[in-house]
Amino acid sequence: MTVREAEPDLAQYKGRSAASTKVSFLIAHLLFAAYWFVGTPNVPGALLVWFILQVGVFAGFHRYFAHRSYKTHPWFESVLAALGCLANQGGLLWWVSEHRHHHRTADTDADFHSPRDGFWHSHMGWLLRDDIDDRIKWDLIPDLRRPHLLWVERHDTAIKLAYAATLALLFGWYGILTYWIVPVVLCWHTSLATNSFCHAFGSHRAACPPKGSCAARNNALVALVNLGEGWHNNHHAHPTYAHHGFHRWYELDVVYLFLLVLERLGIIWDVKRRPRRRDAHDLPLGMDAA
Ligand SMILES: [Zn+2]
Ligand SMILES: [Zn+2]
Repeated sequence: MTVREAEPDLAQYKGRSAASTKVSFLIAHLLFAAYWFVGTPNVPGALLVWFILQVGVFAGFHRYFAHRSYKTHPWFESVLAALGCLANQGGLLWWVSEHRHHHRTADTDADFHSPRDGFWHSHMGWLLRDDIDDRIKWDLIPDLRRPHLLWVERHDTAIKLAYAATLALLFGWYGILTYWIVPVVLCWHTSLATNSFCHAFGSHRAACPPKGSCAARNNALVALVNLGEGWHNNHHAHPTYAHHGFHRWYELDVVYLFLLVLERLGIIWDVKRRPRRRDAHDLPLGMDAA
């Protein structure tokens, strides 16, 4: 006899709250500003954690959970989910459902963060508004209703508190700023730059769905600071490819280089990439959409 797993009680997963976002943004940015005046900043240490958090969000939340660009072990899924959780970007389930909604509605009236509604709105303003639908869109994330991912979501606060407590024990209160708050604020802006700069400035090489509206751009400067996510026109044109850059030889994509290492180590596999044959590359728009 097979025992069916009970359906999770989805009502307990609330999504993002605009009110708590305002408070956390305000406090984190104040602490970020104070960091440079109240102690001896450890820039390399903060940048290292920033890099790790970006890998959690871009290789994990974005390329793996949102677009299924490769396959991996459940244990590594949990690592990626926990790293993304520490980046404090609203939680895995909300992040992925919002992002899939963005690909379906990019730069239409239904898109939550299009620069067509103002640059500030597309960068951070949309997160501070009370009239944006912050609920998790369960119909967009049927593949994420798995026990270990729901566990990470339920224990979001506990994971963050455990990390902060560990930092405080090891490095004192200043360590919480160096190894968490400062990298988190940096990671917010390098992530949000994709929504703002990369839908407003750069080259629009390929048309991408939704046809006629999506204004996604390739922006080399943004790609440099956010490890390759700035090749955003490439990404909207081919959302499932694990490489956002390297559609041209000069398009550096550090996240993809990291994924190649993980593939070589056997931690990930079935990595989706552009077919080698030139004639197979030009799929009709949307054919490879998530
Ligand atoms: Zn986009
Ligand atoms: Zn995407």
